[in-house]
Amino acid sequence: MIRNILIICAVTFSSLTAEIKQAHSFKEIIPNSTLSTLILLDIDDTLLIPKQMLGCDEWFMYRNKQHLSKGLNAHDALKKLLDEFWAIRHLSVMEIVEPGTDSIISKMQDEGFTIMGLTTQGLTLATCTWQQLLANNIDLTRTAPIPHDYFLNLNEHGVLYRHGILFTSGTSKGEALFQLLEQNDVFVDRVLFINDKASHLKEVEDAAIKRGVEFIGLRYAYSDARKALFDPEIADIQFTWSNFGRIVSDSEAKDILNRQKGLVTCYGDSQ
Ligand SMILES: [Mg+2]
Repeated sequence: MIRNILIICAVTFSSLTAEIKQAHSFKEIIPNSTLSTLILLDIDDTLLIPKQMLGCDEWFMYRNKQHLSKGLNAHDALKKLLDEFWAIRHLSVMEIVEPGTDSIISKMQDEGFTIMGLTTQGLTLATCTWQQLLANNIDLTRTAPIPHDYFLNLNEHGVLYRHGILFTSGTSKGEALFQLLEQNDVFVDRVLFINDKASHLKEVEDAAIKRGVEFIGLRYAYSDARKALFDPEIADIQFTWSNFGRIVSDSEAKDILNRQKGLVTCYGDSQ
C-alpha cells in the first residue's frame, strides 16, 4: 500500500495536481496509472541493478569521492569515473531489482498503457542497457509514446531516445523529457514517474508543473535495503581483481578481503 509521505506540491491550476509518494513495491504503479497517463520508468535501482556491488549507484558516488580526494577537479573526476563506469556496465550482468516487475510491465503493455524508460545514463550505454533490459524480459519499445529513435541537444549535452528509453546524459530528466515530447508533437496531460531518487522525481515534477501537466511521483523504496549494504572494501576488491573476462562476485570478493585481513584460517593452521 502506498503511504503518502510527502506532498511536494499541491498546485491548483483548475484541477492540476502534483505529488510524490513512497512506493515499497513496483506493483504500486498499477492503481496510480490510467490509460491516458504517460508512465516513466527509471532504470538503475528501479528496474535493473548489477549483480555485484561494483558499478552500482552507491559505488558511483563512492568512486567519485575517491577521485576528488586524490586531487582531481570535479570535471576530470567525473570524466575518469564515467570511463570506468561505462566499462564496468558493459561487462556486468544486470538483474531485475524486484521479482515480478517484468510481468507487471508486460501486462500493462498488453492492456495498452503508454510506458517508456527515463534514465540519466549517457548515450554510450544506450545499446548495452537496452540489451540488459531485454535479457530481463523488459521491452520498452512495445507501447512507448514515440516509435522512432530521436536525438536532441540540451545544454550542449547529447540526449538520445532509443528503443523507448530516454538517455539524458546527466541533464535534467524533466527538461529532457518534455523537450523530447514537444519536438515530436506528443502532448500529455498526466505523467507518472517511478524512481528510487527523490531528486529526479522533483526534476520531472517541476517541468510538468511548468507546463500544466498533472504529475505523480513514486519514490521507489524497494532497493533501499540492498543499497544500504554497499561495502566500499568489497567494491575496491572487485575493481582491482576483475578483468575483461569476468567481474569478481560479492562472495568471491569477501573471501579475498578476509584472506587479506587474515580472517581465514588456512587448512592445517590449527594443527
Ligand atoms: Mg535510479
